[in-house]
Amino acid sequence: MKALITGGAGFIGSHLAEKLLSRGDEVHIIDDLSTGTIANIQHLKSSPLFHYHIDTITNQRLMTELVDLCDITYHLAAAVGVRLIVESPVRTMETNIRGTEIVLALAERKRKRVLITSTSEVYGKREHIPFREDDDLIMGPTSKGRWSYACSKAIDEFLAIAYWKEKKVPTVIVRLFNTVGPRQTGRYGMVIPNLVTQALTGEDMTVFGDGLQARCFTHVSDSVNSIVQIAAHPNANGEVYNIGTQEEITILDLARRIKLLTDSDSKIVFVPYEKAYEEGFEDMMRRVPDLTKAHKLIGYRPRVALDETLRSIIEDIRLRLLYQRTPEPIST
Ligand code: UDP
Repeated sequence: MKALITGGAGFIGSHLAEKLLSRGDEVHIIDDLSTGTIANIQHLKSSPLFHYHIDTITNQRLMTELVDLCDITYHLAAAVGVRLIVESPVRTMETNIRGTEIVLALAERKRKRVLITSTSEVYGKREHIPFREDDDLIMGPTSKGRWSYACSKAIDEFLAIAYWKEKKVPTVIVRLFNTVGPRQTGRYGMVIPNLVTQALTGEDMTVFGDGLQARCFTHVSDSVNSIVQIAAHPNANGEVYNIGTQEEITILDLARRIKLLTDSDSKIVFVPYEKAYEEGFEDMMRRVPDLTKAHKLIGYRPRVALDETLRSIIEDIRLRLLYQRTPEPIST
Protein backbone atom coordinates (compact mmCIF):
# COMPACT_ATOMS: atom_id res chain seq x y z
CA MET A 1 0.00 0.00 0.00
CA LYS A 2 1.26 3.50 -0.85
CA ALA A 3 0.06 6.32 1.36
CA LEU A 4 0.31 10.09 1.10
CA ILE A 5 0.10 12.09 4.34
CA THR A 6 -0.40 15.83 3.99
CA GLY A 7 0.94 17.52 7.10
CA GLY A 8 3.10 14.45 7.66
CA ALA A 9 5.77 16.29 9.66
CA GLY A 10 3.19 17.50 12.15
CA PHE A 11 2.47 15.96 15.50
CA ILE A 12 -0.30 13.55 14.44
CA GLY A 13 1.03 13.16 10.88
CA SER A 14 4.41 11.93 12.05
CA HIS A 15 2.81 9.34 14.33
CA LEU A 16 0.62 8.20 11.45
CA ALA A 17 3.68 7.88 9.19
CA GLU A 18 5.40 5.79 11.85
CA LYS A 19 2.37 3.49 12.14
CA LEU A 20 2.04 2.98 8.38
CA LEU A 21 5.76 2.33 7.95
CA SER A 22 5.67 -0.24 10.77
CA ARG A 23 3.12 -2.28 8.83
CA GLY A 24 5.17 -2.09 5.62
CA ASP A 25 3.40 0.70 3.71
CA GLU A 26 5.34 3.02 1.44
CA VAL A 27 4.80 6.48 2.92
CA HIS A 28 5.06 9.85 1.18
CA ILE A 29 4.61 12.98 3.21
CA ILE A 30 4.22 16.60 2.20
CA ASP A 31 4.59 19.37 4.75
CA ASP A 32 5.45 23.07 4.49
CA LEU A 33 6.85 23.08 8.04
CA SER A 34 4.51 25.90 9.02
CA THR A 35 3.68 24.03 12.21
CA GLY A 36 5.38 20.67 11.56
CA THR A 37 9.11 20.13 12.07
CA ILE A 38 11.92 18.04 10.60
CA ALA A 39 12.66 16.85 14.14
CA ASN A 40 9.29 15.06 14.11
CA ILE A 41 10.34 12.88 11.15
CA GLN A 42 14.08 12.66 11.75
CA HIS A 43 13.84 9.06 12.99
CA LEU A 44 11.86 7.99 9.89
CA LYS A 45 14.29 9.31 7.28
CA SER A 46 16.47 6.19 7.29
CA SER A 47 13.58 3.96 6.18
CA PRO A 48 13.71 3.14 2.45
CA LEU A 49 9.91 3.22 2.46
CA PHE A 50 9.78 6.83 3.67
CA HIS A 51 9.77 9.80 1.27
CA TYR A 52 9.33 13.41 2.32
CA HIS A 53 8.61 16.59 0.41
CA ILE A 54 8.99 19.96 2.09
CA ASP A 55 6.47 21.90 0.06
CA THR A 56 3.00 23.32 0.22
CA ILE A 57 -0.08 21.35 -0.76
CA THR A 58 -0.98 24.22 -3.07
CA ASN A 59 1.90 23.07 -5.32
CA GLN A 60 -0.50 21.44 -7.78
CA ARG A 61 2.16 19.75 -9.91
CA LEU A 62 3.77 17.94 -7.02
CA MET A 63 0.42 17.13 -5.43
CA THR A 64 -0.88 15.68 -8.72
CA GLU A 65 2.13 13.36 -8.86
CA LEU A 66 1.79 12.29 -5.23
CA VAL A 67 -1.97 11.73 -5.22
CA ASP A 68 -1.68 9.72 -8.47
CA LEU A 69 1.19 7.66 -7.10
CA CYS A 70 -0.52 6.73 -3.82
CA ASP A 71 -3.53 4.50 -3.12
CA ILE A 72 -4.80 6.76 -0.37
CA THR A 73 -4.35 10.32 0.90
CA TYR A 74 -4.56 11.02 4.62
CA HIS A 75 -5.29 14.75 4.61
CA LEU A 76 -3.97 16.19 7.88
CA ALA A 77 -2.44 19.45 6.66
CA ALA A 78 -4.38 22.24 8.38
CA ALA A 79 -4.02 25.31 10.53
CA VAL A 80 -4.22 24.00 14.09
CA GLY A 81 -4.07 25.40 17.62
CA VAL A 82 -6.50 27.92 19.08
CA ARG A 83 -3.78 30.55 19.54
CA LEU A 84 -2.67 30.33 15.89
CA ILE A 85 -6.25 30.40 14.71
CA VAL A 86 -7.18 33.49 16.71
CA GLU A 87 -4.03 35.28 15.54
CA SER A 88 -4.17 34.24 11.86
CA PRO A 89 -7.79 33.74 10.76
CA VAL A 90 -7.05 34.39 7.05
CA ARG A 91 -4.32 31.79 6.94
CA THR A 92 -6.56 29.38 8.87
CA MET A 93 -9.44 29.56 6.41
CA GLU A 94 -7.26 29.59 3.30
CA THR A 95 -5.13 26.65 4.40
CA ASN A 96 -8.06 24.58 5.55
CA ILE A 97 -10.50 25.16 2.74
CA ARG A 98 -8.19 25.55 -0.27
CA GLY A 99 -5.99 22.64 0.84
CA THR A 100 -8.94 20.28 1.11
CA GLU A 101 -10.37 21.40 -2.25
CA ILE A 102 -7.04 20.62 -3.92
CA VAL A 103 -6.75 17.17 -2.35
CA LEU A 104 -10.31 16.20 -3.27
CA ALA A 105 -10.15 17.53 -6.81
CA LEU A 106 -6.93 15.60 -7.47
CA ALA A 107 -8.31 12.43 -5.88
CA GLU A 108 -11.35 12.65 -8.14
CA ARG A 109 -9.30 12.18 -11.31
CA LYS A 110 -8.54 8.55 -10.48
CA ARG A 111 -11.15 8.01 -7.75
CA LYS A 112 -8.46 7.72 -5.06
CA ARG A 113 -9.43 7.21 -1.43
CA VAL A 114 -9.17 10.22 0.93
CA LEU A 115 -9.41 10.41 4.71
CA ILE A 116 -9.96 13.92 6.07
CA THR A 117 -9.13 14.67 9.70
CA SER A 118 -11.61 17.06 11.25
CA THR A 119 -12.03 18.24 14.82
CA SER A 120 -14.43 18.33 17.75
CA GLU A 121 -14.33 22.13 17.30
CA VAL A 122 -17.02 21.68 14.64
CA TYR A 123 -19.57 20.99 17.40
CA GLY A 124 -19.05 24.65 18.35
CA LYS A 125 -20.99 25.83 21.38
CA ARG A 126 -23.08 22.70 21.67
CA GLU A 127 -23.76 21.91 25.33
CA HIS A 128 -25.66 18.63 25.19
CA ILE A 129 -23.14 15.89 26.04
CA PRO A 130 -22.04 13.50 24.52
CA PHE A 131 -21.68 14.81 20.95
CA ARG A 132 -22.97 12.52 18.20
CA GLU A 133 -21.85 12.78 14.60
CA ASP A 134 -25.36 13.69 13.39
CA ASP A 135 -25.95 16.37 16.06
CA ASP A 136 -26.55 19.97 15.04
CA LEU A 137 -23.43 22.14 15.02
CA ILE A 138 -23.81 25.40 16.97
CA MET A 139 -21.54 28.18 15.78
CA GLY A 140 -20.84 31.58 17.31
CA PRO A 141 -20.78 34.92 15.45
CA THR A 142 -18.51 35.57 12.45
CA SER A 143 -16.84 38.40 14.38
CA LYS A 144 -15.05 35.87 16.61
CA GLY A 145 -11.98 34.24 15.07
CA ARG A 146 -12.38 30.90 16.79
CA TRP A 147 -15.54 30.08 14.84
CA SER A 148 -13.77 30.60 11.52
CA TYR A 149 -11.71 27.52 12.34
CA ALA A 150 -14.79 25.48 13.24
CA CYS A 151 -16.59 26.63 10.09
CA SER A 152 -13.57 26.00 7.83
CA LYS A 153 -13.34 22.43 9.11
CA ALA A 154 -17.11 22.00 8.72
CA ILE A 155 -16.75 23.13 5.08
CA ASP A 156 -13.99 20.53 4.64
CA GLU A 157 -16.48 17.94 5.86
CA PHE A 158 -19.21 19.19 3.50
CA LEU A 159 -16.74 19.02 0.62
CA ALA A 160 -15.61 15.49 1.43
CA ILE A 161 -19.19 14.24 1.74
CA ALA A 162 -20.17 16.01 -1.50
CA TYR A 163 -17.26 14.44 -3.40
CA TRP A 164 -18.48 11.01 -2.29
CA LYS A 165 -22.16 11.64 -3.02
CA GLU A 166 -21.80 13.50 -6.28
CA LYS A 167 -18.55 12.22 -7.75
CA LYS A 168 -18.08 8.84 -6.05
CA VAL A 169 -14.66 9.70 -4.63
CA PRO A 170 -14.30 7.37 -1.61
CA THR A 171 -13.90 9.84 1.26
CA VAL A 172 -14.25 9.50 5.03
CA ILE A 173 -13.99 11.99 7.89
CA VAL A 174 -12.62 11.51 11.38
CA ARG A 175 -13.44 14.11 14.05
CA LEU A 176 -10.60 14.07 16.56
CA PHE A 177 -11.19 15.11 20.18
CA ASN A 178 -8.11 16.75 21.80
CA THR A 179 -5.42 14.40 20.52
CA VAL A 180 -2.28 14.64 22.65
CA GLY A 181 1.00 12.77 23.08
CA PRO A 182 4.74 12.91 22.59
CA ARG A 183 5.98 15.47 20.01
CA GLN A 184 3.02 17.85 20.42
CA THR A 185 4.20 21.41 20.89
CA GLY A 186 2.68 24.06 23.15
CA ARG A 187 3.63 26.80 20.72
CA TYR A 188 0.13 27.06 19.26
CA GLY A 189 -1.66 27.05 22.60
CA MET A 190 -2.28 23.37 23.33
CA VAL A 191 -2.79 22.97 27.02
CA ILE A 192 -0.93 19.78 27.99
CA PRO A 193 2.49 20.55 26.45
CA ASN A 194 2.20 24.06 27.88
CA LEU A 195 1.41 22.96 31.41
CA VAL A 196 4.02 20.17 31.36
CA THR A 197 6.75 22.52 30.08
CA GLN A 198 5.82 25.10 32.69
CA ALA A 199 5.81 22.46 35.45
CA LEU A 200 9.20 21.08 34.40
CA THR A 201 10.84 24.50 34.12
CA GLY A 202 9.40 25.85 37.38
CA GLU A 203 7.32 28.55 35.68
CA ASP A 204 3.78 29.45 36.67
CA MET A 205 1.26 26.99 35.27
CA THR A 206 -1.32 29.01 33.33
CA VAL A 207 -4.93 27.91 33.68
CA PHE A 208 -7.20 30.00 31.46
CA GLY A 209 -10.55 31.21 32.79
CA ASP A 210 -11.69 29.55 36.02
CA GLY A 211 -10.26 26.15 35.01
CA LEU A 212 -13.66 24.47 35.32
CA GLN A 213 -13.87 23.87 31.57
CA ALA A 214 -13.27 20.18 30.86
CA ARG A 215 -11.79 18.14 28.03
CA CYS A 216 -11.28 14.46 27.13
CA PHE A 217 -7.67 13.95 26.03
CA THR A 218 -6.95 11.16 23.53
CA HIS A 219 -3.54 9.54 23.22
CA VAL A 220 -2.22 9.93 19.69
CA SER A 221 -1.78 6.15 19.32
CA ASP A 222 -5.56 5.68 19.77
CA SER A 223 -6.22 8.39 17.18
CA VAL A 224 -3.74 7.03 14.65
CA ASN A 225 -4.80 3.38 15.02
CA SER A 226 -8.42 4.28 14.41
CA ILE A 227 -7.57 6.56 11.46
CA VAL A 228 -5.85 3.64 9.73
CA GLN A 229 -8.70 1.21 10.42
CA ILE A 230 -11.45 3.62 9.40
CA ALA A 231 -9.61 4.58 6.21
CA ALA A 232 -9.45 0.93 5.17
CA HIS A 233 -13.07 0.11 5.95
CA PRO A 234 -15.26 -0.48 2.88
CA ASN A 235 -18.44 0.80 4.59
CA ALA A 236 -17.07 4.13 5.77
CA ASN A 237 -17.41 6.16 2.56
CA GLY A 238 -19.06 9.55 3.01
CA GLU A 239 -19.33 9.02 6.76
CA VAL A 240 -18.12 10.99 9.80
CA TYR A 241 -16.65 9.30 12.90
CA ASN A 242 -15.85 10.75 16.32
CA ILE A 243 -12.56 9.52 17.77
CA GLY A 244 -11.61 10.31 21.34
CA THR A 245 -12.13 9.18 24.91
CA GLN A 246 -14.85 9.82 27.46
CA GLU A 247 -12.39 10.26 30.34
CA GLU A 248 -13.12 13.87 31.21
CA ILE A 249 -11.02 16.21 33.36
CA THR A 250 -11.29 19.91 34.18
CA ILE A 251 -8.29 22.02 33.19
CA LEU A 252 -7.69 22.95 36.84
CA ASP A 253 -7.57 19.27 37.84
CA LEU A 254 -5.34 18.60 34.84
CA ALA A 255 -2.88 21.25 36.07
CA ARG A 256 -2.94 19.73 39.58
CA ARG A 257 -2.39 16.23 38.13
CA ILE A 258 0.58 17.41 36.02
CA LYS A 259 2.07 19.25 39.01
CA LEU A 260 1.85 16.05 41.04
CA LEU A 261 3.24 13.76 38.34
CA THR A 262 6.19 16.08 37.68
CA ASP A 263 6.75 16.75 41.38
CA SER A 264 6.85 20.44 40.46
CA ASP A 265 7.05 23.52 42.68
CA SER A 266 5.35 25.65 40.02
CA LYS A 267 2.40 27.79 41.08
CA ILE A 268 -0.94 27.31 39.33
CA VAL A 269 -2.19 30.73 38.21
CA PHE A 270 -5.43 31.80 36.56
CA VAL A 271 -5.23 33.86 33.37
CA PRO A 272 -8.37 35.58 32.05
CA TYR A 273 -9.38 34.46 28.55
CA GLU A 274 -9.14 38.00 27.16
CA LYS A 275 -5.50 38.09 28.21
CA ALA A 276 -4.72 34.59 26.95
CA TYR A 277 -6.50 34.97 23.59
CA GLU A 278 -8.57 38.03 22.68
CA GLU A 279 -11.38 40.20 24.02
CA GLY A 280 -14.68 38.30 24.01
CA PHE A 281 -13.05 34.89 23.49
CA GLU A 282 -15.58 32.08 23.88
CA ASP A 283 -14.52 28.71 25.28
CA MET A 284 -16.47 25.45 25.43
CA MET A 285 -17.17 24.16 28.92
CA ARG A 286 -17.36 20.48 27.97
CA ARG A 287 -16.63 18.36 24.97
CA VAL A 288 -17.31 14.61 25.23
CA PRO A 289 -17.60 12.31 22.19
CA ASP A 290 -20.25 9.69 21.64
CA LEU A 291 -18.13 6.80 20.35
CA THR A 292 -20.89 4.37 19.38
CA LYS A 293 -20.47 4.84 15.63
CA ALA A 294 -16.72 4.15 15.58
CA HIS A 295 -17.23 1.24 17.95
CA LYS A 296 -19.79 -0.31 15.60
CA LEU A 297 -17.51 0.11 12.58
CA ILE A 298 -14.11 -0.94 13.90
CA GLY A 299 -14.76 -1.99 17.53
CA TYR A 300 -13.07 1.27 18.59
CA ARG A 301 -12.23 1.67 22.27
CA PRO A 302 -9.55 4.03 23.54
CA ARG A 303 -6.69 2.03 25.05
CA VAL A 304 -4.56 4.65 26.80
CA ALA A 305 -5.80 6.19 30.07
CA LEU A 306 -5.06 9.83 30.95
CA ASP A 307 -2.33 9.15 33.52
CA GLU A 308 -0.41 6.96 31.09
CA THR A 309 -0.85 9.63 28.41
CA LEU A 310 0.46 12.33 30.77
CA ARG A 311 3.46 10.20 31.77
CA SER A 312 4.41 9.67 28.12
CA ILE A 313 4.22 13.42 27.44
CA ILE A 314 6.17 14.35 30.58
CA GLU A 315 8.91 11.90 29.59
CA ASP A 316 9.04 13.31 26.04
CA ILE A 317 9.19 16.95 27.15
CA ARG A 318 11.79 16.15 29.81
CA LEU A 319 14.01 14.71 27.06
CA ARG A 320 13.33 17.58 24.66
CA LEU A 321 14.18 20.13 27.35
CA LEU A 322 17.39 18.27 27.98
CA TYR A 323 18.29 18.59 24.30
CA GLN A 324 16.83 22.12 24.08
CA ARG A 325 14.45 21.13 21.31
CA THR A 326 11.23 22.16 23.00
CA PRO A 327 9.72 25.56 22.30
CA GLU A 328 9.23 28.16 24.99
CA PRO A 329 5.90 27.91 26.79
CA ILE A 330 3.58 30.61 25.52
CA SER A 331 3.76 33.89 27.36
CA THR A 332 0.50 35.43 28.44
N1 UDP B 1 -5.72 26.25 28.31
C1 UDP B 1 -5.22 26.61 29.55
N2 UDP B 1 -3.89 26.93 29.65
C2 UDP B 1 -3.04 26.88 28.59
C3 UDP B 1 -3.56 26.51 27.32
C4 UDP B 1 -4.90 26.20 27.22
O1 UDP B 1 -5.95 26.67 30.55
O2 UDP B 1 -1.84 27.18 28.77
C5 UDP B 1 -7.15 25.85 28.23
C6 UDP B 1 -7.93 26.37 27.02
O3 UDP B 1 -8.47 27.65 27.28
C7 UDP B 1 -9.02 25.31 26.88
C8 UDP B 1 -8.32 24.01 27.32
O4 UDP B 1 -7.19 24.43 28.08
O5 UDP B 1 -10.10 25.55 27.74
C9 UDP B 1 -7.86 23.15 26.16
O6 UDP B 1 -7.10 23.97 25.29
P1 UDP B 1 -6.43 23.44 23.96
O7 UDP B 1 -6.00 24.64 23.19
O8 UDP B 1 -5.40 22.41 24.28
O9 UDP B 1 -7.60 22.68 23.20
P2 UDP B 1 -9.09 23.13 22.76
O10 UDP B 1 -9.36 24.50 23.28
O11 UDP B 1 -9.06 23.07 21.29
O12 UDP B 1 -9.97 22.11 23.39
